Amino acid sequence: MKNQQPLFGNTLSELQIFCKVYGLPSFNAKQICEWLYKKQVSSIDEMTNLSLKTRELLKQHFDMGISYPIDVQISSDGTRKYLFETSKNGLIEAVYMPSSDRHTLCISVQMGCRMGCDFCATGKQGFQHNLTCGEILNQLRSIPESELMTNIVYMGMGEPFDNLDEVLKSLEILTSDWGYAWSPRRINVSTIGLIPEMERFIAESECHLAISLHSPFDYERQKFMPIQNKYPISSVIKSLKKYDWSGQRRLSFEYIMFDGINDKHTHLDELTKLLKGLFCRVNLIKYHSIPSNDFQPSTEERMIEFRDYLSEHGIICTIRQSRGEDIMAACGLLSTFSKS
Ligand code: SF4
Repeated sequence: MKNQQPLFGNTLSELQIFCKVYGLPSFNAKQICEWLYKKQVSSIDEMTNLSLKTRELLKQHFDMGISYPIDVQISSDGTRKYLFETSKNGLIEAVYMPSSDRHTLCISVQMGCRMGCDFCATGKQGFQHNLTCGEILNQLRSIPESELMTNIVYMGMGEPFDNLDEVLKSLEILTSDWGYAWSPRRINVSTIGLIPEMERFIAESECHLAISLHSPFDYERQKFMPIQNKYPISSVIKSLKKYDWSGQRRLSFEYIMFDGINDKHTHLDELTKLLKGLFCRVNLIKYHSIPSNDFQPSTEERMIEFRDYLSEHGIICTIRQSRGEDIMAACGLLSTFSKS
């Protein structure tokens, strides 16, 4: 059938508009949401509390919009990397990381990324296209471990705030009573610091926020993160200091450690100065090498020294465990360029 739109990924208000336009009772919209996001049916025919006529009308306008992964790679540590086709004939990846007390899914929001961070395989791939809200949520909906998931991080391919409308819609569906009804405390959205979009996200969502920091020095960060030319990290921090982060909503900073570059004592001094007065935590991340740059990971000892120093200076700091490095699923390694 021509001109069909995906049904999965519509919000309650979008479905209410559809119902109004086609003379259906408004409560049909809520019923459709229940079938989509709570009962997770695979076809419109399964929505049995809608009349046959309503289901036929839906089928004229929509397909389900669910697509299953076309490949999976399994790491020796249990991490699984799923490959999906997008509606624009592209490819994206999502990473499932099980551990004893939590099941985390790292999802993508774009095919590729236009931010061009020098240490990141997705950035090297360039930008292909944005994902729709349905394609973002489909990564959760269609993997075998979907029901197990306890946490979602928006840290896969792409910059979430470069596709903010679709990201906010996906968060609305995840956290609304009529949707998945997840607590926003189970969701963490990461950005390199697009300030206007970040401020809109803070106003419109309750989910946790993670900032890719990687250097406290504006001049140095500029060398490997081009966004620095538009939004210096000092301005990002200044903006974040306008908000109260002492409640349940968490603010964290991601800090990938590059040997001999951003792991010196001067960085520790500057970091403590920069983050002073901000209720936050810092996650130290091992750098995972990619071809086409000379960065090397800091030693484990240096990472421990960093963690201990920051902790002693009042900043909650952890070393994030690397997951899925052997299947190129670890932080900064996602790329579908060679598979396209
Ligand atoms: Fe894009 Fe994030 Fe990679 Fe930077 S680190 S290029 S923002 S995906």
